Amino acid sequence: MPNIGKPDLSEMLAQERRARLAAERLLDQKSRELHNANRKLSAHARLLSDEIIVKREEAKTFQSEAENLKGENTQVRADLQRANKQAVKAERRLWEALETIQDGFAVFNPRNQLVIANHSYMNIFDGLDSIRPGVTYPDILLLLVEEGLVDIGFEAPTTWQARMLARWKHDKIEPITLKLWDESYVKLIDRRARDGDMVSLALNITETIRYEEQLKEQRSRAEAANRAKSSFLANMSHEIRTPMNGVVGMADLLCDTDLSEEQQLYAETIRSSGETLLVIINDVLDYSKIEAQKLSLNPAPFDLERTIHEVLLLLKPSAQERGIDLLIDFDMFLPTRFVGDPGRVRQILTNLMGNAVKFTLEGHVLIRVTGFPGENGNHELRVTVEDTGIGIPAEKVDHIFGEFNQVDDERNRRFEGTGLGLSITCKLIALMGGEIWVESVEGEGSSFGFSLSLPTDEDTAVRVPSVETGLNKSALVVDDQQINRMILERQLSVMGFQVSSCRSGSEAMTTKSGSFDLIVTDYKMPDMDGLELSRRLRSRGEVAPILLLSSAPGDFGTLASDCGVNAVLQKPLLRRDLFRRVAELGIAMPEQNPAVDGQSEKSTSGGPPDKAGSGPPMTILAAEDNKTNQLVFRKMVGGLNVQVTFANNGREAVEAFQAARPDIIFMDISMPEMDGKEATRAIRAIEANSTLANVPICALTAHAMAGDDEEILASGMDHYLTKPLRKAAITAMIEQYLPGGVALHAPATTLSEEK
Ligand code: ADP
Repeated sequence: MPNIGKPDLSEMLAQERRARLAAERLLDQKSRELHNANRKLSAHARLLSDEIIVKREEAKTFQSEAENLKGENTQVRADLQRANKQAVKAERRLWEALETIQDGFAVFNPRNQLVIANHSYMNIFDGLDSIRPGVTYPDILLLLVEEGLVDIGFEAPTTWQARMLARWKHDKIEPITLKLWDESYVKLIDRRARDGDMVSLALNITETIRYEEQLKEQRSRAEAANRAKSSFLANMSHEIRTPMNGVVGMADLLCDTDLSEEQQLYAETIRSSGETLLVIINDVLDYSKIEAQKLSLNPAPFDLERTIHEVLLLLKPSAQERGIDLLIDFDMFLPTRFVGDPGRVRQILTNLMGNAVKFTLEGHVLIRVTGFPGENGNHELRVTVEDTGIGIPAEKVDHIFGEFNQVDDERNRRFEGTGLGLSITCKLIALMGGEIWVESVEGEGSSFGFSLSLPTDEDTAVRVPSVETGLNKSALVVDDQQINRMILERQLSVMGFQVSSCRSGSEAMTTKSGSFDLIVTDYKMPDMDGLELSRRLRSRGEVAPILLLSSAPGDFGTLASDCGVNAVLQKPLLRRDLFRRVAELGIAMPEQNPAVDGQSEKSTSGGPPDKAGSGPPMTILAAEDNKTNQLVFRKMVGGLNVQVTFANNGREAVEAFQAARPDIIFMDISMPEMDGKEATRAIRAIEANSTLANVPICALTAHAMAGDDEEILASGMDHYLTKPLRKAAITAMIEQYLPGGVALHAPATTLSEEK
């Protein structure tokens, strides 16, 4: 039976068991939960510890960075301090430097207020209190004028201030010089900086101005001395030249007399030394004039071709001595009359052509003139002087244009000269706006050239005689020299001839008789000369007119016409002479042209071939007060077919001219009573009132100063020869104006004198 009041044991045990099971289950669950919680806890703890490690690392990095920054900061602070110190030092140095310099320095801000200025700048204001930082530039200008600190001359104060203010507004401010109250000078140099500040420099240029004033004074004193020197030289040159005329002239005449070899040597030495001395005097005179910039050009119309011809005529005797041919190749279509300084152009040509002849021992000297119309009616001329002479070594070519410079070698030392010619020539060409150049091959020859741009004188287009159209005329040129053949071929073909040419007389003899209308032959040829060729052509029945070209002096007497030559033409040959002769032969139609015909119109008046010794003598009037010079002149024309009348002064010359008009007048310039220029003006006035053509007048002058020749030509003279007179020059002049039909050389003694 169940025990009701008291639980039985099994129950109790079951309960206990159940309770224990439940407790075990709970324990198990709790222990699982604990395990889980433990696991989580340990995972969390691991995580935490990882984080702690990371954080610790980070903390470490931060700490080192903080330490770095701290270091850098100290460095930067030290740098800044150093930089500051340096800036202060630099500023102090700059300022000390600015204070030390004698020139003023100031800076204005963009509102034109003074920011800083050094003492020198402030000194300009002579201690004025109001000039201090902050004062404006317009106020400074006002004070400068009001206080009389600046000398503004006669300009109104307001105008001056306005001008000075306007100046600051320019982009590029020009420097300006101010004169101050204490006679000092400042030059203001202002520049606007990029930030708008104005930097102003006031340079003290008092010393420079004083120096300039001194220089000006010294220069004017030097110029006065130079003028005195020039006029001294001019007078000296006149004084030296007059007696030298006697010395050289007489020595020249003496050389022509019967002398022993020794005497001949002495006379030649006197003559050549005298001439050399005169060349030196002239060169030195010209050179000093160019150096003193006293040389001015005097443009006048002149005939270039004639000038070249005249220079060549003077060189002809020395060229002939060595058998050198002088040739002119003047561009066929180039005018001959230009406006330039005739005396100076002649001087340039004389130097270049003179050198070419001097330095050439055999061969030829060729003067080539070409040109083309340029701007403003000017002709662009190129003149070259080519020679087959000794040439110039390449390394010396630049050297020769310097003063007193010569190619100093064995070969060159044989030639006389001062070494001034080319230097003067160079300067003259530069003065005329031209250029000079040279090409040279040592041992082969030289070619000097220059360019000039010159206006042509009036309408001077060259017209050449032309053969009648449709007649198909032909001409034969015989010359051994290729250049000469070429020039002649060109000249004749311009006239309308069909031109053939031969190199020698024997080649010419192979041509068919009667196939030419004109034959032009050179005289001097190696195998057969021109006279012999003419004789042979005539004897085989040649009827064409024959022109003989010769460089030999004289006209061969009757020999030329005996050989059948129709006319002898002197080389170098002028275009106009060839044209005229051809026209006279009746093959071509002459064309009138003042540029080509000019003054030598009367020298050939047509008619038969030259006949030596025929015709009346040429009449010459010579005005010369000095008896020695009269004697020299008389002797120099002795042997020529001329009749000379002397006048002792200008008045007598005019009277003699009125009594009998001569063929040519030689006129001394300085004569008592009436000088040569005045006499010429009187003669030209008489001619102007008559229908007579002007008589050629050639001045004889002892003056050597530049400018004289222009004055001489301006008085109405056509030419001038400088003393001492040279026989060759006088003869060439006479030959140029020889009337047609009159032979130059008298067959017997036809020289007659009056007075
Ligand atoms: P100069 O002829 O009086 O000596 P220049 O000044 O005219 O003086 O010439 C200078 C030098 O140039 C001459 O001495 C000569 O050596 C050289 N020279 C000039 N022209 C020629 C030439 N045509 N051929 C060779 N040498 C020349």
